[in-house]
Amino acid sequence: MTATATLRDSTRVDWRGLAWAYLFFWYFSGVTHVLLQLSGTTGSYGLRQATIASFLWLIPLLLFPQRARPIAAGIGLVLWAFSLASLGYYCIYGQEFSQSVIFIMFESNPAEASEYFAQYFAWWMVPALLIYSTVAWLLWRRVRPVHLSRRAAWISVLLIAFSLLAFPQIKNLRRGALSAALAAETIQTRMEPAVPWQMVVGYLQYQEQLAGMQELLDKNKKLPPIENLVDPNNGQPTSFVLVIGESTNRQHMSLYGYARKTTPKLDALRTQLTVFNQVIGPRPYTIEVLQQALTFADQENPDLYLSTPSLMNIMKQAGYKTFWITNQQTMTKRNTMLTNFSQQMDEQIYLNHSREQNSRAYDDNVLEPFQQVLADPAEKKFIVVHLLGTHMKYEYRFPPEFAHFNDRSGLAEWVTEEQVPVINNYDNAVLFNDQVVARLIDIFAATEAHGLLVYFSDHGEDVFDSPGHKVLGRNEGRPTEPMYAVPFLIWESEDWKEAHPRDLSAFVDRPYQTSHFIHTWADLIGLRFAGFDPSKSLVNSAFKERPLLVGDPASPKGLIDLHTRLPAQQ
Ligand SMILES: [Zn+2]
Repeated sequence: MTATATLRDSTRVDWRGLAWAYLFFWYFSGVTHVLLQLSGTTGSYGLRQATIASFLWLIPLLLFPQRARPIAAGIGLVLWAFSLASLGYYCIYGQEFSQSVIFIMFESNPAEASEYFAQYFAWWMVPALLIYSTVAWLLWRRVRPVHLSRRAAWISVLLIAFSLLAFPQIKNLRRGALSAALAAETIQTRMEPAVPWQMVVGYLQYQEQLAGMQELLDKNKKLPPIENLVDPNNGQPTSFVLVIGESTNRQHMSLYGYARKTTPKLDALRTQLTVFNQVIGPRPYTIEVLQQALTFADQENPDLYLSTPSLMNIMKQAGYKTFWITNQQTMTKRNTMLTNFSQQMDEQIYLNHSREQNSRAYDDNVLEPFQQVLADPAEKKFIVVHLLGTHMKYEYRFPPEFAHFNDRSGLAEWVTEEQVPVINNYDNAVLFNDQVVARLIDIFAATEAHGLLVYFSDHGEDVFDSPGHKVLGRNEGRPTEPMYAVPFLIWESEDWKEAHPRDLSAFVDRPYQTSHFIHTWADLIGLRFAGFDPSKSLVNSAFKERPLLVGDPASPKGLIDLHTRLPAQQ
């Protein structure tokens, strides 16, 4: 009796009723996010945002309390249906649904997709689905009308709308960068982790990014072919492999003298490698580096990547069958350029469909596709393997059995207690990266392919390495050497060496930046074309030393010569 009395008393709020209704709506996004958290697949952003976004559905219930149950049932059915997709995707792939998944769905052929589904489908998924749906139904039965005074109801609705729509804009306002487009984007980003927005936003973003990529591709297709192209490799089976690493600072590799043994596999291969000691990336960001490394663009001519043929175009024009295997994300706003590059190739294998870059994804999943591609019957092959390398978060880059560095051993004395686990995670990521790169070399060598493999990282990473020891990651505004110092090495097959005898070891101490990589690559494999500049080739006797310009070329005054900062070689 008292309970009913309380309910009817308009001054008291039925918090329990509200809580049950909220829990019901939260359930459809929350379960998947809790599972993602428990399995350590991704950071907590998605769970937090889904928790906030679920308040949205309380609005109709507050405004029309007498119809609470049918309204909740209608919304619940939609959320349930959408949640099955994200939960199902998690159960099968162990990852979060994203627009990259939509991209893959439209890109890959249905037979492949259903094969994959069959491979991962397990019997327990059926009872799990039933339990999941039953719990939803039980929660719905708890939903009851919550009567607030009109005034209180409207205030609550406005509060929810404010916290979902206006509150996120405060950061934009503070930056003085508030525009309608940015406001919409901010809301999209925040709502995306919740059902049904994952699919809705995912699909919209997919469409948008696809259009952006298509525009880039169309532009690229209209470029005239490179002139005077000569390839001496015709007539015999030849394979060339370019492995692009990620965020790997060579100063953390024992191959380059790091105190910890972080690269035992490459150390063991040392005698088969040519290891270059003074190569840097021009910029501390993936896309900006590859825009230069894979085209004629450089720090002084940063826009050439759109108006001249790329390395991919040239290899294709020279008659190579071209493959792009990547463990990087595909359909994110940032990565449209990368996907455009990959689409300039004949075949693409996309292995990373996470929504957030801060998600678990191990690079060893490139190995099997690499093996398959090497077995392709095409006579001339060019394969790009793009790794996730040692990108943040470091602990997501290596499986537990590679957690080899767990204490302070091998670290400098000034490293603080809080920095130790971060450095350890980074070094463990380097250790796993060593395994992956060495395996790629082993697999390539085992095919007895005639050709060579080049590995370099896009840029480095400062893991409390620089003076002051407070820097983590990369910041173009405050450049430090570790952000740019990359590994650069070449492996050549025996018969390639026999056919092309030359002493690369004479060049290993040349200061060089990967902006001019297209010339080095051409030189290494013997290609010649209009625009080839031997003075920009790391392996040419006509090589000319240049300033190692780092910084944002959009503000030329900001370019500095890192060369003057490099320490003398031991
Ligand atoms: Zn990068």
